[in-house]
Amino acid sequence: MLDRIAAALAERKRKGLLRTLRPLAPGKPGHVVREGRELIDLSSNDYLGLTRNQVLMKRCIQWTEHLGTGSRASRLVTGTLEQHAAVEAKLAAFKGSEAALLFASGWQANASIFKALVKLAPGTTIFADEVVHASMHLGIAAAGKRQVRFPHNDLDELDRLLAEQGPLAEERIIVTESVFSMDGDRCDLVRLTEIARHHDAFLIVDEAHATGVLGPRGAGLSAEAGVDVDLVIGTFSKALGSFGAYVAGSQLLCDYLVNACSGLIYSTALPPPVLGAIDAALDLVPGMDAERAHLAALADRLRKGLQRQGFDTADSDTQIVPLLVGGEDETLALARRLEEQGVLGVAIRPPTVPPGTARIRFALSCVHHEDDIDCLLEALGETV
Ligand code: PMP
Repeated sequence: MLDRIAAALAERKRKGLLRTLRPLAPGKPGHVVREGRELIDLSSNDYLGLTRNQVLMKRCIQWTEHLGTGSRASRLVTGTLEQHAAVEAKLAAFKGSEAALLFASGWQANASIFKALVKLAPGTTIFADEVVHASMHLGIAAAGKRQVRFPHNDLDELDRLLAEQGPLAEERIIVTESVFSMDGDRCDLVRLTEIARHHDAFLIVDEAHATGVLGPRGAGLSAEAGVDVDLVIGTFSKALGSFGAYVAGSQLLCDYLVNACSGLIYSTALPPPVLGAIDAALDLVPGMDAERAHLAALADRLRKGLQRQGFDTADSDTQIVPLLVGGEDETLALARRLEEQGVLGVAIRPPTVPPGTARIRFALSCVHHEDDIDCLLEALGETV
């Protein structure tokens, strides 16, 4: 096996496609320092700038001093602190759901919920938007069930596929994201919910990139659409500034996941410092409308600037703005040239995105200024 590993890596390197971990340090807000140079960081998920917020940092320290650094066990053993229950209640109130559950990560939640659900109905068919996050594809594969992928955001086709194949299935699950992580576009949740109800399908929506950023009080797109989604997944690792994830839904659903979801049952409960940061973020985020408006305005400025320069920004209309390049080599070269000019814009390549759609994925934060966007646009003007 090691020979094969060495050969695979050598081949990647020969093609200039080797992935490596490149350390950096935080710089001034919205910036990072790499190899001694300060770069504008336009590729992180710290959408509300909360990773270095004083309130979050203080509560992290307070809860650590009070409760320790670790939760000592998984949730069903001795890992459930009173604070887990309190944060889950706060989260359910924030999301407007009956109940909520904490998970160690969005990856872990997505990788394990499908198996828990489909074991109740072995004849389940899962209908998934073709570009949903890799962790959901993994979770669906782990459930070993039939998966039907529908073209990205094509709800007419989803409706048709459900009409054609739905009646053959014992149960139907629909899976999508409310804001897509790589294109920055949105799903029409009002229509999707109607389709789900019409075909008696269970609806799962990943709100990783919408939580904190969109909807009333930052509660996400399902709240904005005013729809009832059966199961919402979201993370604390993006706009909420720390780590971990949640599932929000009915009390019945959460009670079931506590009994059946391996990602929750067999993993150590979130530790007090992280719980403290989540608790503080849940206090702050609802009041951050001004930050959300600033972020939306920055994204608009970036999209318009890129489009003026002739770039394709797909259907982005959120804080995630892709600059579609196409080829992997050209995308990597563009990212390198941007970095030389002081801008960090990370190249995203297949298999993370479909073949032929390599891109620079810009992801903005409310700590950025208009000048940062203009710097990027100027750098692009000089490099391309
Ligand atoms: N879902 C989506 C849509 C994501 O973009 C991500 C993170 N890249 C995840 C889930 C995984 O979340 P986490 O980082 O908490 O594991």
